[in-house]
Amino acid sequence: MSEKKTSLYSLTLEDLREYLKENGFAKFAADQVYNWIFKRYEFDPDKWSNVSSKIKNDFIEKMDINIPKIVWNGLSTDGTRKFLVGMSDSNTVEAVAIPAKNNRLTLCVSSQIGCAIGCTFCHTGTMGLTRHLTTGEIVGQYLAVTKWLRDNVDEEARLSNIVYMGQGEPLHNFNNVKQATKVFMEDKGIGLGQRKITLSTSGLVPQIEKLEDFPPVNIAISLHAAHDNIRTELMPINKAYDLTRLFEAIRKIPLKAHRWITYEYILIADLNDRVEDLEGLSDLLDKGVSKVNLIPFNEYPESKFKRPSDEKIKWFQDELIRRGYICTTRITKGTDILAACGQLKSEHDKLNLWAD
Ligand code: SAH
Ligand code: SF4
Repeated sequence: MSEKKTSLYSLTLEDLREYLKENGFAKFAADQVYNWIFKRYEFDPDKWSNVSSKIKNDFIEKMDINIPKIVWNGLSTDGTRKFLVGMSDSNTVEAVAIPAKNNRLTLCVSSQIGCAIGCTFCHTGTMGLTRHLTTGEIVGQYLAVTKWLRDNVDEEARLSNIVYMGQGEPLHNFNNVKQATKVFMEDKGIGLGQRKITLSTSGLVPQIEKLEDFPPVNIAISLHAAHDNIRTELMPINKAYDLTRLFEAIRKIPLKAHRWITYEYILIADLNDRVEDLEGLSDLLDKGVSKVNLIPFNEYPESKFKRPSDEKIKWFQDELIRRGYICTTRITKGTDILAACGQLKSEHDKLNLWAD
């Protein structure tokens, strides 16, 4: 068995320059290759007319130049498009393109195949962890989806934002997600600014403590409960890192860079939508640096929790605002194709359900 090759799409511009130099090529070719891949979405080296064939042959021989495949896609009535993305070992993950106003098109990317955290409300959490995604596979979701959109919908399509809210716990796959983020931010490539990328974590305290070593993107913490007993019921990770430890770590995140922390809070009927929960949140969250994003629970087949009524959701939001917090309610998108938060789950047999 040959050693696994490095993906060409896992390299920052500087990494690519280094690689070329080490292999006896001119460094400047890195800019040209970068332009072909990340600006023109041309992944076939044969088409790179201004790049020497020696370099192209070197890549073909020594690097992995495969892009993940779009195995299936489905369009929701609200414009959200879900992609099933196939990796070279035939595992699949979901990536979801979500349109918003001002021409925004956000890609929700997966960081792992499955997830080890096992939250009881999460469809992905029932799968367990199969494996981490490589950096090339994380960046590859962006490249494959952009290419597909350009070929099939709009030749100028551009994904303007990235959220690590697909399958997996991104901080569990810290190094690959960090490297992918650097590639997403590369000026001469995709060029996303740090405010265009959001990392969502269930609260892996040791990795939160390492965030100063991560590009200063937006941070979202999946909080979901303001009391330890409820949080433990929802998120087994709370047994290892309870609210006290979680908030000790959060308070050390260098906020000058991050400006504020977003707290995701899934609202579940009669579980965490009560007055005691509002009071708990006010005790935990520092005003002025905390935003709360309420996510009405998305029911899925076999889910044991219920979504609160619209009146209850509005009441909860109004109460948080009255207490001085910035608070929004996430509009659930893509529910008709099971693409909404927590509904991402790769199973080929589902394709039959989703297919038109
Ligand atoms: N693992 C990371 C990121 C992926 S989950 C995390 O947990 O933060 C992305 C968001 O979707 C999280 O806030 C998660 O809690 C939420 N989510 C999961 N299942 C959901 C469901 N059934 N309804 C609503 N939101 C859900
Ligand atoms: Fe994993 Fe996030 Fe789902 Fe929890 S909510 S099981 S951390 S993907």
